[in-house]
Amino acid sequence: MKSTVINYPFFIGSIVLALLSAWFIYRDAKCRDYNPAIWVVACIFTALTVGVFGTLAVVIAYFLLCPRGKLFICPHCSGKYIYKLAFCPHCGKPVKKECLGCHDLMGLDAKICPHCGLRDI
Ligand SMILES: [Zn+2]
Ligand SMILES: [Zn+2]
Repeated sequence: MKSTVINYPFFIGSIVLALLSAWFIYRDAKCRDYNPAIWVVACIFTALTVGVFGTLAVVIAYFLLCPRGKLFICPHCSGKYIYKLAFCPHCGKPVKKECLGCHDLMGLDAKICPHCGLRDI
């Protein structure tokens, strides 16, 4: 018997997978300051148009394209952020301070500037 009824368990499964992927990518992209909203839209959009394989393609594309680098813990809100940021992407507070000598950025708890050697007092 030929049927045009939507395969609901499969459809719901692909939506759940898309939402889980979107949630995971959103959290990771926010830490890396990498357009979290665009990736969430891409996950949901491909799930609705292409299906499961569209979502998987977006997840793979994200891991190929996302900025790599060490993640640090924000001293203010305990959220994670990628090393190159000067402000926490979660709470907006500074996670680095400016050296008074060379005006380069260094860690909030650094005692000596790693760029010019000036001692912070
Ligand atoms: Zn923070
Ligand atoms: Zn310096």
